[in-house]
Amino acid sequence: MEITEQSAIDRWVKTYCPYCGVGCGLLAGMKNGAVAKIKGDPKHPSSRGDLCLKAVYLPETLRTDDRLLYPQIRSCQEGPFKRATWEQTFKYLANRFRQIIDEHGPEAVAFYGSGQLTTEEYYVGNKLAKGFLGTNNFDTNSRLCMASAVAGYKTSLGSDGPPVAYDDIDSADCFFLIGSNTADCHPVTFKRIKQRKLSHPDKVMIVAVDPRRTETADFADLHLPIRPGTDIALLNAMLHVLIEQDLLDANFIAQHTNGFAELKETVKKYSPKVAEQICGVPECLIVEAALIFGKAKSAISLWSMGVNQSAVGVHKNNAIHNLHLATGKIGKRGSGPFSLTGQPNAMGGREVGGMAHLLPGYRSVENALHRDEVEGFWGLPFGSISPRPGLAALEQFEALATGKLKAIWILCTNPAVSAPDIDVIEKALRQAELVIVQDAYHPTATTKFAHVILPAAQWSEKEGVMTNSERRITYMPKLTEPPGEALPDWQILARFAREMGFADGFPYESSEEIFTEFVALTENTLCDYSGASYTRLKNYGPLQWPVTNSHPDGTVRLYQEQRFPTADGKANLIAVEHAGPVEKTDDEYPLLLTTGRVKVHWHTMTRTGKVEVLRKTSPEPILDIHRADARRYGIHDADFVEVVSRRGKVMVQCRVTEEIPRGVCFLPFHWGREHGFFKAANNLTISARDPVSRQPELKACAVRVRQVLDFPLEDN
Ligand code: SF4
Repeated sequence: MEITEQSAIDRWVKTYCPYCGVGCGLLAGMKNGAVAKIKGDPKHPSSRGDLCLKAVYLPETLRTDDRLLYPQIRSCQEGPFKRATWEQTFKYLANRFRQIIDEHGPEAVAFYGSGQLTTEEYYVGNKLAKGFLGTNNFDTNSRLCMASAVAGYKTSLGSDGPPVAYDDIDSADCFFLIGSNTADCHPVTFKRIKQRKLSHPDKVMIVAVDPRRTETADFADLHLPIRPGTDIALLNAMLHVLIEQDLLDANFIAQHTNGFAELKETVKKYSPKVAEQICGVPECLIVEAALIFGKAKSAISLWSMGVNQSAVGVHKNNAIHNLHLATGKIGKRGSGPFSLTGQPNAMGGREVGGMAHLLPGYRSVENALHRDEVEGFWGLPFGSISPRPGLAALEQFEALATGKLKAIWILCTNPAVSAPDIDVIEKALRQAELVIVQDAYHPTATTKFAHVILPAAQWSEKEGVMTNSERRITYMPKLTEPPGEALPDWQILARFAREMGFADGFPYESSEEIFTEFVALTENTLCDYSGASYTRLKNYGPLQWPVTNSHPDGTVRLYQEQRFPTADGKANLIAVEHAGPVEKTDDEYPLLLTTGRVKVHWHTMTRTGKVEVLRKTSPEPILDIHRADARRYGIHDADFVEVVSRRGKVMVQCRVTEEIPRGVCFLPFHWGREHGFFKAANNLTISARDPVSRQPELKACAVRVRQVLDFPLEDN
């Protein structure tokens, strides 16, 4: 596990990056018992020694003045916090939970987790809520991130689980990047794509579909500057061209799919000319993109929030899968639909059933057989798990606002910055009877509303495993002791469970025990971990599931047998229709706002905001607006502007550019109200959501923009 080196560093230890879903392997340089330096782990197969700036500066985020050091309780949100011991805190929490559940039933409490939790922590939280408390109200910020990808895989292929591996990048001839600024958001994956292109410049083609001319789009051979929210029309038009040009895999369609006749009928309507009217992308570029995809021997589609954060996010995913299924570009080297996950363990969260409709091992709460299996495994009486999906992320906050939900336990996440329409979130948290926030830091925008704050150990202060975008499970060792009285999230949850009287279900002394239990529950499911253990992960290295005793080295790509986990083994071609953003532009709100990330910051900046170099690189949110729109509204480059939607306003500086289509503007979402009330992009966004995935439409809302001469420079 350890690598020694003659340097100022005492030793280098293998670990894993806690930021994005690329899941880079890191080497932590230890000096005097603290993490002093970070570099890439050349032996980690997902990143092969590469890493990005965010990871380099991890040591600076660990021992900051705002680390939460001990549990604190207050009787109301206006009052001062008082320090409490863990024993007092668990007693207090158990009493409050019992009271609320006795009076209002188990569905009056909820847990809101995060893709920052380890798999073991996710598992314990899920088991506690769904199995022992009797509520399926365990959801996660992954709902804001890739719930549409989960539902897309399930409906098209029969199960969640990206079929592709990073290794496929090295043999793909076509990269179709849609709704993903990979260069900024998944930089190490992008470098690998770039290397593939640069080593075969004539053979490999990159198509980028993005409203903005990002670094990703700039590097692509073909950029399709799409109007936000119109992806389905584009994808259907591409399939229309592939049918016309006879670039389908007729054998694959006949033998391995259902639904082609209906799909063909639907995409007939979407000629490239029709799609041009909807998407704003010239017809000739749509045809070119389709021909590049169709003629390539192998093709990978990569997407993330630009596709998923939509009121029709699941259908957009289905339309991507249609392209791969209709051309047979799946389950083969260099081919397949590859959703990029946002967070380091978004995948692990899916595997343990960390969303309100799921159970461990890609099981569903709505499936009686699945409930039986899990109840039996957890030693619970028949009927303990509710057959109704619990409240998804935004529904939890809406239920708090109406009083249906009384208590929320928020772990490792900051919804008062990251969720859409912050007014609704803040109102909900103010209305709540009990808000518990378990975090490494305090204050955050969310701990401001807490009654109880619980100090959590963070990356490097606990051990556990995480799964990245390519289904690869990596073990992370504990490198240092957590500060103060902070505890790993799994310990906090398990000790609370014991206080609630569930000692038999939560006897864990280590995260390894939890992992072993979870592994047993995955046996014979698609995400079978049965060949994985801490020992194996430590000795062999990261493994891609399914990893079983008969396949102890894991599985590079899924569906190589061209058999899908559906009733008849065939995948589903799903006919989907275009539907634009829920909120239309009009005379009052004539511009469409899309939101996203900048390269150096992570989510709500509770960590990257503490690093001076990163802060200085991107100190403020900047609005991108097209030159023609700027001229129309009397705005100049670097002016301060007010951006107003039907829900709120933002006041920021702007960048006048031609790298964004007319009628569209862009604002990064990392800044919350604590950075300045009017800097929060989610003052503006809409909480409309996909009816199936329940993922909100963070990528499109209508706004107006005007120049502000009397800009309040100090508005904190
Ligand atoms: S690309 Fe993602 S996983 Fe890799 S070092 Fe950067 S933030 Fe970490």
